[in-house]
Amino acid sequence: MKLILLGAPGSGKGTQAAYISDKYDLPHISTGDLFRENIKNKTPLGLKVKEVMDTGNLCPDDLTVELVKDRLSNPDCNKGYLLDGFPRDLAQASALDEFAAPDKVINLVVDLAKIEHRITGRRNCSKCKNSFHIDFIGETKVCPDCGGELVVRKDDNPETVKERLEVYESRTVPLINYYAKQGKLIDINGDQSIEKVFEEIVKALEL
Ligand code: ADP
Ligand code: ZN
Repeated sequence: MKLILLGAPGSGKGTQAAYISDKYDLPHISTGDLFRENIKNKTPLGLKVKEVMDTGNLCPDDLTVELVKDRLSNPDCNKGYLLDGFPRDLAQASALDEFAAPDKVINLVVDLAKIEHRITGRRNCSKCKNSFHIDFIGETKVCPDCGGELVVRKDDNPETVKERLEVYESRTVPLINYYAKQGKLIDINGDQSIEKVFEEIVKALEL
């Protein structure tokens, strides 16, 4: 199964991706995580994208497509994939259609007015990459899943979040129509509990 998770920043893509990847045994491929890993390790790619990521803009399409193509050529993707954060604009979507078109696209629909709160209260595990909200875990620095250190992402501040939402509206929202036209789009209400959202995703995938 080749799956894409679509949704605004902070819509819960990463959280649901972890659940889906676990249940269907699909490699969870997050371009955001891949870029952050490259930045942390100061690779040539990481040095190229650091600045643009810090401002909340998209990394260049050619670099992003190369990164995903390369990742998908890994044998663990023979059984399919779960893409989180890619594609993010029409150029990336049509590139993906050339080498590994998705079967289904899950679109997490959330109230954009709640996004800032969702993102600015977010804490990310530096070890297992899962993310949590302080509304649920409080101000701890320890990951409830693996004990790793929780950190705040550099781009999870109000100014950068505003920019990311604008980029989402102008560059990513057109993908909703793109995949709807292909008959691949599944809308899921993302403004529900994590468990309920996951339950609806599973139901929709098993139809
Ligand atoms: P979120 O979904 O919360 O915005 P991500 O981790 O998916 O977080 O993305 C963080 C940043 O990484 C983006 O703002 C962008 O700079 C970069 N990025 C991630 N995926 C892509 C992509 N497919 N194309 C271009 N840039 C990307
Ligand atoms: Zn963890």
